[in-house]
Amino acid sequence: MSNTNIILERIVIDKSVAESPLARNVLQGVGNTIPVQYIADSVRYVEGFNSRNFLQDSIGAGKRILLITPNKGSFFKNCPGTPRYLCCLYKILNFATGCPLECSYCILQGYFSSPLLTLYANTDKMLSELERIFNQWSGRVLRLGTGEFTDSLALDELTGFNSFIIPFIRRWGHVFFEVKTKTATIASLEEFKNDRHIICSWSLSPQRIINNEEQNTASLVERLKAAQRCQDWGFGLGFHFDPIIYYEGWEDEYYELIRSLFSSIDWRRIYWISLGTLRFPAYLKEIIERRFPETKITFAEFITGGDGKLRYFLPIRLRLYKQIYKWIRERAPEVVVYFCMENPLVWREVTGYSPESNKAVATLLDDSCLAHLR
Ligand code: SF4
Repeated sequence: MSNTNIILERIVIDKSVAESPLARNVLQGVGNTIPVQYIADSVRYVEGFNSRNFLQDSIGAGKRILLITPNKGSFFKNCPGTPRYLCCLYKILNFATGCPLECSYCILQGYFSSPLLTLYANTDKMLSELERIFNQWSGRVLRLGTGEFTDSLALDELTGFNSFIIPFIRRWGHVFFEVKTKTATIASLEEFKNDRHIICSWSLSPQRIINNEEQNTASLVERLKAAQRCQDWGFGLGFHFDPIIYYEGWEDEYYELIRSLFSSIDWRRIYWISLGTLRFPAYLKEIIERRFPETKITFAEFITGGDGKLRYFLPIRLRLYKQIYKWIRERAPEVVVYFCMENPLVWREVTGYSPESNKAVATLLDDSCLAHLR
């Protein structure tokens, strides 16, 4: 894999999916370089892993093992969103959980009962479920992404997932597929050039935050170069300023980040930019401080929001949003900007407009998809 920061120590394959195309891709990709273990029962394997690693950093250890297993649940999911805040009604293709990258603030730490990198390989079930749902959605825009429970591209060179799924998805003209990443491993996308139903998205942070809080990820320059390449390849683009972190010097560094973004990217090719300040469930604070003792992000003062998550006080959130929104608007007067998990008051104070419902936020983004096809 070209992302040499990612270290896999073991591949574990549930025998029931050993012949699946994704399992075969992985086996071919690793050759003899990593031990491969076949198991009969994934649930028991995970239980054993959790009890063996009980006193250690099981989250970190889980990032070095790739479990290939069937998904007993649903592949198609609603974005969990968060109660009492506006949500864009995004849909998730749940093909994998866990992430080999190491962001200190990552909400996935402790989110799943299994800390292992997990690839769901019962692809027949995946395709039949998607076919049924895509047909049900006929005539309506469906925004679907893979970057909520994992990074969409971090293991793509190994799993070949995008090369597998995109030819299937692009049979439905109303489906827009977002690939969201903090890597620059985009080679697998080139074969789908000029498909504006594919939206390549990057989460962006100032380089200082990348250095301090986003281990194993691509640098800002690498992310923007990859985005520029995807622009040249004719894809849609998305950017996520999420989480926005408040620290001494944030103004200069976020200003520079926005300047760099718009000096390399044509805003007319951007389907959306999301803004979301740092927030996390209270239990994550202890995990962050234990796993990343050098981090300072938990030193800030937080309130407990209506969804139970810790977040910055409203005046700080508004200060961050207003400034960043203003800098974006100066360079991209009509680009769609939305807030991820914010309340109507924030929308109104920052943009002068407040959507009356989740549906209104969804329509804003759906319309942007359609506008970019014209
Ligand atoms: S890239 Fe996303 S999923 Fe991966 S560790 Fe960072 S925040 Fe978590």
